[in-house]
Order: sequence, then structure tokens, then C-alpha cells
Amino acid sequence: MREGETKKDKRRKYMSKDSYFKNGFKSVREEVKQDMEEQFESETVGELKSNDHVIVRDNVEVHLAKDFGFCWGVERSIAMAYEARTHFPDKKLHITNELIHNPQVNGKLQDMEVNFVPKTGGPDGGKDFSGVSDGDVVILPAFGASIEEMELFDSKNVEVVDTTCPWVSKVWNTVDMHQRRGLTSIIHGKYAHEETVATASFCETYLIVKDMGEAEYVAKYIAEGGDREEFMKKFEKAMSKDFDPDKHLVKLGLANQTTMYKKETRAIGQLFQKAQLNKYGPVDVASHYMEFDTICDATQERQDAIHDLVNNKEELGLDFILVVGGWDSSNTQHLLEIPLNAGLRAFHINEGECIGADNTITHRAMNGDVVKEEFMGRGMVRMGVTSGASTPDRAVQDALDRIFLLKKVNPELQ
Ligand code: SF4
Repeated sequence: MREGETKKDKRRKYMSKDSYFKNGFKSVREEVKQDMEEQFESETVGELKSNDHVIVRDNVEVHLAKDFGFCWGVERSIAMAYEARTHFPDKKLHITNELIHNPQVNGKLQDMEVNFVPKTGGPDGGKDFSGVSDGDVVILPAFGASIEEMELFDSKNVEVVDTTCPWVSKVWNTVDMHQRRGLTSIIHGKYAHEETVATASFCETYLIVKDMGEAEYVAKYIAEGGDREEFMKKFEKAMSKDFDPDKHLVKLGLANQTTMYKKETRAIGQLFQKAQLNKYGPVDVASHYMEFDTICDATQERQDAIHDLVNNKEELGLDFILVVGGWDSSNTQHLLEIPLNAGLRAFHINEGECIGADNTITHRAMNGDVVKEEFMGRGMVRMGVTSGASTPDRAVQDALDRIFLLKKVNPELQ
């Protein structure tokens, strides 16, 4: 890094090159739009939407959440990747990671001969870039890429198609500001999630807290001090190099992984603000704590919509909620937690095939285990359905079609 050059300067430098594409490829946009509609749209979901989000078919009453499925950032990212394939028909294309956490979309990209950079394992998300050569095209996913990856592509002389969601870029701008003002960025996120790995890479000094429990631990350390060794061990994978809790918790700025619970991010912000207020007093607190709202609306809207269904579970007579989305998708996992925490049966499936002809459902439990169990009972079933921000409507339709068919043909479910 040149003297005085910040990480932000470096990022801007890479992004301003002629070989760096941030806005897709307009000349092929209409063609790609039609392809996407054919591949991802769903008649059943369309019917649900035009019927106040409720349909009854084959003894199944379906209540679709008011907000669900593809968010703007994901649709944009997929469109840009498809446009890149059409724009560079003869070039070798790579994606640095799953474009989004969805098996159908990633399968389609593989069919289009887009290579996924292999992971080398380990919690830091190590990858093997040896297959990326001069003249190739590299697509950056919706959750972005780290500064180290950007640096590597710059040195490899490849063309880069950046599909990073603008909401994620907004978080990066926020941490840029923290760093410029000498603050430690406290990132509410999961340290191994690609988006948080990228966000952390733009900070000189950061600490990642995954939930309220960890935030309370840090706030207590601010207020009372504590066991430094224990602190270092607890956050060893979630802090910047040379992080010192006795030195770097004086001036704080809050940032977040865009798919975390908005309410939890807010509560964590209030906790740190209060901790700094108690320590430095009302006059000086402004120079010890800083916060901007960087929580993505799409995540929040999907969470609110599932809360609505859960809050009306008795009135609607819901037997269960089906959550459709990639098993690695953080925002989808959060959608599952809402009904389960309210005591409502709920299943997170990643595709329609999880519903077996023998009336079983294979689903990802809250602890991450993929388990199989008996699914529906006899008679009328009332269900809620939602899908994560990276899930095409067609995946919801596949799951519903299997449920309708199962109810129709299995005499034990009549
Ligand atoms: S969930 Fe939000 S931050 Fe993530 S891709 Fe969608 S719009 Fe962007």
C-alpha cells in the first residue's frame, strides 16, 4: 500500500479501471430479463399474489407471507451475472463464491459454464484461485469480495464484473468513515460469512459480534474491564490483527451484516451507546460512539411478514410454516427462527425435492442439522409459506406442487 493510501483508496482504484464492470451490460439486458422470467417466475405464486396471498387446493390452505423471495439486490446480481455470460460468450467465467445462497440459481450458472472458485476449507473461507488466468472474467457475488481478493484480481489481469448489492456497499462506506475517524468498527455479523469477511477486510480495526450475548460481554468489558486473555480467546477469529480490548474499545462505530435481525442490530447499538454514555458522559459520548442505519429493508420486510403470519397463527389455524431457501442462506435461517421461537412447527427446505412421496420432509433444523421426519396429517392442512431473499418463486412453486400432489394421491392423508 502506498504511504497514506487507505483501504478505501485501494478499493476505489481497482473499481475505477476499464476492466472493472459495475453496471452490467445494457446491450443484452432485455434478452436476459426474458430468460430470467422464464426460469424463475411461478404461476402458483402469481395466483397467490392476485388472491390476497391465500389459495386452497387439494385440501391444503396456503397463506403466503406478504413479503418473501427475491430481493432487489439478488435479482440485480443474477441479472448482471447472466449479462456477463452473454456479453463474454467465449471467455472463461468464474464466480468467487456462490453468487447467492440458492442451489437452483447456482445450478443454472454451472449449466452456463460459469466456474465456482473452489473452497479450500477452513472457517476463514479460504479459496483456490489457481484456475483463474489472465484474460478470464471474474464475477463478484451479491455479498461482495474482500480487499485481498480485489487485489489478487488486479494483479491477475482479469476483467471483473462486480454484482455487490448497493446495500452492502453502503455498509462498506460506513466502515470507511469509522476508519477515517479513528473508530473501531463493531460489526454485528457472523465472522465466517462472506459479506462480513469482505466488510472486515475494509477495516483496519474491527470486532465482530454475532449476537446480543457477545455484545453484552463486550459492553461489560467496556464498563468494568475483565479477563483480557479470555476476551482474546473468545473473539480470536472475530477481531482485527493486533486488536487490543484495552485500547480499541474507546471509540466505536456500529456496522452490520445486512441479513442480521434488524431489531437485534438496533438493540446492540443501543447497548454500546449506553456503555459509552456511562463511561464518557453525555457531552463526550458523540465522539465515542457512532451509528448509521445500514440494515437492508428487504431483510426486515421478510422478517416482519413472517412475524405477521406467526402473530395470526391461531386465527388462521396454521399447522406449520414452510420456509424455502438455500441451507447456507443466513436470511432464510432467520426466517425459520421466528415461527420456531413462537412455538409454531416450521421447516426450512432448500428445494421441492425435500418433500418425499412417503410423506416425509427433509429440512434444516435451527442447530444446522439436516433431519427427516414425517410431514403432514390427515384432512385439511393449513400452512404458511415464505422464502428467503435469494429464492426464486419457482422453488416455492415446486415445493407447493409436491404438497398438493401428496395430499391428492396419498389415501392416508385424505
Ligand atoms: S438482502 Fe438486502 S443486502 Fe442482501 S442482496 Fe438483498 S437487498 Fe442486498
